[in-house]
Amino acid sequence: MRKVWQVRVRSMQIISIPEKEEIKEISIGESEHMVGEFIGDEEGISLIVLGSVHGNEPSGLIAMRRMLPTLESLKDKIKGRIYLIAGNTRAINKGARYIDDDLNRHWTEENVERNSPDSSIATNRVEDIEQKELLEIIHRIISSAKDEVYAMDLHSTSAESPPFALIGDTLRNRKFAKNFPATFLLGIEEQLDGTTLEYINNLGAVTLGFEAGQHTTEAAIENQEALIWLALVHSGILTKEDIDFEGYEQKLKDAMGEELRIVEVRHRHAITEADEFKMELGYENFQPVKKGEVLAFDKHGEIKAKETGLVLMPLYQSQGSDGFFLGREISPFWLWLSRVLRKLKIGDLMRFLPGVNQHPVEESSLTVNTRIARIFPLQIFHLLGFRKRRWRDDKLIVSRRKHDTKSPFKRK
Ligand SMILES: [Zn+2]
Repeated sequence: MRKVWQVRVRSMQIISIPEKEEIKEISIGESEHMVGEFIGDEEGISLIVLGSVHGNEPSGLIAMRRMLPTLESLKDKIKGRIYLIAGNTRAINKGARYIDDDLNRHWTEENVERNSPDSSIATNRVEDIEQKELLEIIHRIISSAKDEVYAMDLHSTSAESPPFALIGDTLRNRKFAKNFPATFLLGIEEQLDGTTLEYINNLGAVTLGFEAGQHTTEAAIENQEALIWLALVHSGILTKEDIDFEGYEQKLKDAMGEELRIVEVRHRHAITEADEFKMELGYENFQPVKKGEVLAFDKHGEIKAKETGLVLMPLYQSQGSDGFFLGREISPFWLWLSRVLRKLKIGDLMRFLPGVNQHPVEESSLTVNTRIARIFPLQIFHLLGFRKRRWRDDKLIVSRRKHDTKSPFKRK
């Protein structure tokens, strides 16, 4: 089998990595997204790792760079394809979350079409340029895949937090995620439009998002690195024996703490700059909150928790469009039940219910009238593999999560 080796370490020399202190600045060449590309078997499984899609989150990029020498020494053992990709190169150099637009909310149908490699529409917005470059790389990988494709997106949080993972709720995503010793957030894709992983997920890849801890900590870098090594084994590209598997697993376990949970994201407090949003001080990720508790302030006054649950990703930085999220722990039974129902394809029968209709344009969507939506709350649709799209007039529109049970890449 032909082997191609391509490792770009040019930018490794221009950074210095402080040992155990705060990470302040890193730099990268503009447009130099490919941090490392390792092809052991061109027809094998692929792992795409994106890091620092938010430019103020350096840990993903630093972790990938740290792995390069070891990956180079393991090159004869690599059974598939590994792509380590830096996200927003221009924002990384400024230490900013983004320059013109949040790159991790930029993957809407409209933007992707405008910025696709063969589009002739000119743009000088920074994230349009970044997206164009990334689209070229991602499409090259996806279109040449002959076996399963896994993709991970590495982030960090402004608040202190143990690491946690996020998955769009498809059975394939859950199956991959189950391998990691981690707390999981389920269904965030329903709250956010245009995330990088949602786009890649809809291309057919199995996806996993990761929040490694506070932005500037050494721990965040180490957690990112541990996660990538584990993913290389769980995807089947390396074996446990090739690396210090137990060491990395222990590292993540220690960082996660004792209590591993599955949390469903239920509410997002969206903000704009004009709101003058300020989170009340002292909230940590996963902190329990009571309905009515004052969580934040904006120019209209107090912002209270809409329901009792857990506060997720409270915002303690100036840039960003999510003030906080609220979630609720869900039981393993719910996960088991939804797996069984989806495998039985019970969702196919939903459109025969009174008040539920096939969407006139979107093939994978249903429209649900308000009366039925009250009898069958959103949770029922979640169970059956649908996600909420939007409310329009008196109708709820839900659509099936794409590539829920079957990979489009495996030919067998
Ligand atoms: Zn981020």
